Amino acid sequence: MASNRGVVYVGPGKVEVRSIDYPKPVDPRGRKINHCVILKVVVTNICGSDQHMVRGRTTAPAGLVLGHEITGEVIEIGSDVEFIKVGDLVSTPFNVACGRCRNCRDRETGVCLTVNPGRAGGAYGYVDMGGWIGGQAEYVMVPYADFNLLKFPDKAQAMEKIQDLTCLTDILPTGYHGCVCAGVTTGSTVLVSGAGPVGRVRSIVALYSFSMAACSFSALAACSRRGSFSALGFPLPICAQAGPASIAAITTAATNVFMATA
Ligand SMILES: [Zn+2]
Ligand SMILES: [Zn+2]
Repeated sequence: MASNRGVVYVGPGKVEVRSIDYPKPVDPRGRKINHCVILKVVVTNICGSDQHMVRGRTTAPAGLVLGHEITGEVIEIGSDVEFIKVGDLVSTPFNVACGRCRNCRDRETGVCLTVNPGRAGGAYGYVDMGGWIGGQAEYVMVPYADFNLLKFPDKAQAMEKIQDLTCLTDILPTGYHGCVCAGVTTGSTVLVSGAGPVGRVRSIVALYSFSMAACSFSALAACSRRGSFSALGFPLPICAQAGPASIAAITTAATNVFMATA
């Protein structure tokens, strides 16, 4: 049987690359599933939210394989998979979602009702999210392949930009979703609190997707990592040392406010 290695949570402040089992076509409860694929991981990311586990702020069990931002090549497919083929290069949304339950049909795939016995919503490699094995690994199993996977139509072209396309698994759609949920539109004044990958992408989305056409955008960003914005060439006024008073002033000025924790 093929070998596999993954990034394993060992204990607070400690992760290791260890040998792990090669993926099997079974769900975390041991039920055989035929709607899955096995991916050879091409790129993956460390998420800011992984740090909650790694820093010991959660009940993540030792031995948990991390990683929910997975882009890979399909190397095996189950008998019920219809739209995905061996050799496809695919992006995997971080939410595991069945595509069949009421919430999935309402496009609320982040709170799928069937993939986690403990609560609504599942994810790869994350505490309390259903026990799906993470993809900071050489190989990973993706259930519900037809519903979850985004196939890149031109594999060679995608590989040329794969380190950008890796953002499709979480960072870019999460930032975009934040803009949509906050009601950002042309002319909005936006406060993005948080300057990690999601906060930065959220600012990019706000700036270029919603407002550049009218050139009427103005934005305020309160963040402790000033350089992360200025390095991107943002034409944003930055509040470098955002204390409570300046945060309050900016929040009052902003028409759309959202927080990015990653
Ligand atoms: Zn993530
Ligand atoms: Zn569902």
